[in-house]
Amino acid sequence: MRVWALGVALLAFPLVACAESVESQTVKQTDTARLQEAAPSHNHVAAHETLLEAEKHQETNSATTIPKMGPVPITCYGIAEQGGLVVCRTEPNAQVKIARAEDDFYFETSDENGILFVGFDRDEATNFIEHAGNRVTFELKPRDYDTSRIDGLPKNMVNEYTPEELKRIRAASAKKKIGFASRVQPVGFKDGFIYPIQEDYIKTTNFGAQRILNGVPKKPHYGVDLAAPKGTPIVAPADGIVSLASEDMYFEGALILIDHGQGLISYYLHMDDVMVEDGQAVKQGEQIATVGSKGRSTGPHLCWRLKWRNRNLDPELLTQWSQD
Ligand SMILES: [Zn+2]
Repeated sequence: MRVWALGVALLAFPLVACAESVESQTVKQTDTARLQEAAPSHNHVAAHETLLEAEKHQETNSATTIPKMGPVPITCYGIAEQGGLVVCRTEPNAQVKIARAEDDFYFETSDENGILFVGFDRDEATNFIEHAGNRVTFELKPRDYDTSRIDGLPKNMVNEYTPEELKRIRAASAKKKIGFASRVQPVGFKDGFIYPIQEDYIKTTNFGAQRILNGVPKKPHYGVDLAAPKGTPIVAPADGIVSLASEDMYFEGALILIDHGQGLISYYLHMDDVMVEDGQAVKQGEQIATVGSKGRSTGPHLCWRLKWRNRNLDPELLTQWSQD
């Protein structure tokens, strides 16, 4: 049986230890060293007095410079990169501050095992999480993203939709909204992802590629495009619950969303055959669909994407998750 809490308890290398506890240990070590120097073993009284001095000093230090700490420091493990994800552990059901900057933050609640996912957006630079005076900071190095320039496109790229098309677009986005709001308990994501296509494919676009059309930068491409013949099986990259399965999406054609826990949602576009239903539990490696070219697509391929809450992550990065 897979036990999520156990998996996390075995995490070998917490990414960053809580800075405050390190500082507090340093204070103690320094005082002990000072004490040993000042107190040769033949002078017990002096040693005792020095000890008292040191304790007093330590108390002052604790009161003035060391913030109150929660009983469980935050430890995190995973891929602390732009587009990556870490799994953090703290107290159960804790309100954890997730921040991009001191004045740009919100709160998420850790689950009953104290587990909280934190994902990093394409262009995020610094990010920290904090609970009960414990803070873990992530310095995210800028990644190199591909640029694809297409010039000489016809000027009128703006779509005009008929009322019927608009109706379909609105219905589709309402469905997506519900699917992306899914927040299942973290049952699925533990050992990272496998590729959703296990047969031959050609990767045609990387995550985050910047598109420049007629010299104008457009929204980056948040998916990883894997081209493969129509009908190629697509499998679930990790266990999860299907939070949307639809063959009637205006832009995506066919769309599947899988919640791997806490709203870590991988999704799949343009498929030919959709083989799962809303609410269905899927296992890693289980077939969910076949490659197609439905919706706005130029040829058979899978557009594979990943979101955590409102952030766009790189699904391919999670295939590098440590299996130790
Ligand atoms: Zn794509």
